[in-house]
Amino acid sequence: MNTKTTIEWTETTWNPITGCTKISPGCKNCYAERMAKRLQAMGQFRYRNGFQLTLQPQTLNEPFKWKKSRTIFVNSMSDLFHELVPLSFIDKVFHVMNNCQHHQFQILTKRSTNLRQLASLLNWTENIWIGVSVESQDYVYRIDDLRTIPATIRFLSIEPFISPIKQLDLTGIDWVIVGGESGPHARPMHKNWVRQIREFCIEQNVPFFFKQWGGVRRKKSGRLLDDQEWNEMPLRIHSTKFFDLINT
Ligand code: SF4
Repeated sequence: MNTKTTIEWTETTWNPITGCTKISPGCKNCYAERMAKRLQAMGQFRYRNGFQLTLQPQTLNEPFKWKKSRTIFVNSMSDLFHELVPLSFIDKVFHVMNNCQHHQFQILTKRSTNLRQLASLLNWTENIWIGVSVESQDYVYRIDDLRTIPATIRFLSIEPFISPIKQLDLTGIDWVIVGGESGPHARPMHKNWVRQIREFCIEQNVPFFFKQWGGVRRKKSGRLLDDQEWNEMPLRIHSTKFFDLINT
C-alpha cells in the first residue's frame, strides 16, 4: 500500500486503525470518511467496513520495514484516542513507536480528554509528537489537555479553520499548523483569522506553518499568506525534508 502523502507537514501515513465517528463541527466534511467510503467501493480489504472503526493489526509492523528515517503521521484515517480503541491496542502502537527510534511519529487527536486520561499509562519516547485539532475558539480547551502530555513536541492543527480564534495561549506548545477546509463542501476561512494566528505565534515565539487555503480547488488557491509560504517547523526535528523546507 502506498503510504506517501501529499500532506505538507509530514512524509508518510501509517494507519493501524481506520474509521472514526464525528465528535465536533470540524468533522462535518471529514476527508477520511470520504476516502474510506471510496476505498470500500473500490473493494480494498482494509476498508471493507467503510468508515466504521476497525483495528488493523496486520499493519503494526510496517514502520519496522522502513529502514530510512521518516516523519510519519499516525492514523490519518482515524483517531488513535477514539473511545472504542482498546488501551491494549494503543499500547501496541506505542510499542512500535518506542522501538522505531529512527522515525518521528506525529499523532493528532480531537479526543483530548481521552488523551489526557491515558497519557500516564503510555511511554512517550522522544520520537513521538502529539497534537490536537482546534477548529474554533470553542475547542481551545483541548490545548489545556495537550499541555499535560509529557511529549517532546506538542502541536496544534487549526484545520479546518471554521471560525475566528481571538485568544490563544501557546504556553508549552511547540508548533502551530493552520489550514482551510478542502473539498466539495468546504467552509470558507478568512485571511484575517489566519493573520491573527500568525501574530499569536510571532508574539509567543512559536513556529507557524501555513498548510493551505483549501476550498473547492485546493491546488489553485495555494498556500501563500501575504505573498509568502510559512513553513516553520519545531526546532527539535531530524527529517531531511524539513531541513529542506526551513532552508527554502
Ligand atoms: S476525528 Fe478526525 S477522523 Fe474522526 S471524524 Fe473527526 S475529522 Fe474525521
